[in-house]
Amino acid sequence: MAKIDEVNRKLAQLVSIESVSTDSKRRKQMDKAVEYIKGEMESIGMVVEEFNSNNCPSLVIGKKIMSESAETIGIYAHYDVQPEDPVDKWTSPPFNLTKRGNKLYGRGVADDKMHLIQSVIAVKNLIAKKMLKNNIVFIFEGEEETGSDHFEELVKKAGDDLRKIDVFYILDMGMKAVNVPQIFYGLRGIAGFELKIKTGESDLHSGVYGNRVLNPAQVAADLFSKMKDSKGKILIPGFYDKVKKFTEDEIAVLSKFVPNEENERETAKVNQMVGGFLESKIKPSLDINGVASGYAGQGFKTIIPCEATIKFSIRLVEYQNGPEIIKLVEKFVAGNLPEGVDHEFIVKEAADPFYTDYTNPYAIKTAKILEEVFGGECFFNRSGGSIAAAEILQKLYKKPIILTGFTLPDENIHAPDENVDLNMFEKGIVALERIFSS
Ligand SMILES: [Zn+2]
Repeated sequence: MAKIDEVNRKLAQLVSIESVSTDSKRRKQMDKAVEYIKGEMESIGMVVEEFNSNNCPSLVIGKKIMSESAETIGIYAHYDVQPEDPVDKWTSPPFNLTKRGNKLYGRGVADDKMHLIQSVIAVKNLIAKKMLKNNIVFIFEGEEETGSDHFEELVKKAGDDLRKIDVFYILDMGMKAVNVPQIFYGLRGIAGFELKIKTGESDLHSGVYGNRVLNPAQVAADLFSKMKDSKGKILIPGFYDKVKKFTEDEIAVLSKFVPNEENERETAKVNQMVGGFLESKIKPSLDINGVASGYAGQGFKTIIPCEATIKFSIRLVEYQNGPEIIKLVEKFVAGNLPEGVDHEFIVKEAADPFYTDYTNPYAIKTAKILEEVFGGECFFNRSGGSIAAAEILQKLYKKPIILTGFTLPDENIHAPDENVDLNMFEKGIVALERIFSS
């Protein structure tokens, strides 16, 4: 095994590159990250290719083909990171990998640069020990944090290399706790909407026009109360028609996770929890994300606004289909606005839900390896979030997809003082070596 110092140095170099994909002023840093990753892969004898479109950050594919008849393992990670704001909340500079105690701190270290470096090191170690038998294909994305806009197009361009893959590992998830690994087999999909409601050309005096014209903020409130009830049930006709029925077995698998509600309430820093733990894992949900209408500044302004904008999003579960749900929503809104109201819809994003069978042989084999390396039970879990790559790879290749990783729940992903645990870093490399060589 490579000395951890060398591994640290590689991670430090990658973290020092400010690959913030959402910041167009740092576009060159994206290329710099690509050059660095390419160099690392080429130095261990991998064949590397870059794919792009419209000057987007490259998709980097690295291959190590051992034999035509060997099994091929695909590994996904992403090299782009979230912005570092607010910088003054960081204990050490975000792009300067810093060790404190048993933790390494830096922007993107947990999400997702450690996984990328761990994968490369694991392959390097196996080559050095002459123990690599499987073919390896790395798929490193640079647009995960901006919604994976070109991922499907670029993956298709990469073509044959990906079609031969027998199993995909998406290393962009974390562990349940120190030494407690988990495999995710389900993610929710998402559809985002911006709805603009317009009742006239300009705001009006409420003393003169109250009771005589429609108020778009009130129209929006009425609309959303018809769309979802106070218990969270979505009332759009047909919305639940395709939702998968969950088996007792799966409920039992997930119920191992049920946390203490009071702890959850404290973690969320919220006054009250109104739904149980499984609500965000196996059920769809609809949430208003933002509302703008009228005057909300200092003091009062007695107007009737002329327009309202509401941003909302829906998390989907299998087997709901994004485009079908979008149509249902559009039809519902058009049919439930009063006469005299104009509306405009912008659909912001859409990813279908992801689901893979948690009893497939690769999942079982991986769980066994993780249990042996970490010494704790491996849990099967679902996430309420969305990862576009998982859904796209599954749709295109129909192969088992294992979502896992070695970060911990308290590692401040997307926040100041993002960090990873050094022991999980080292053990993760050992686990990947086992996964890649068996
Ligand atoms: Zn990530």
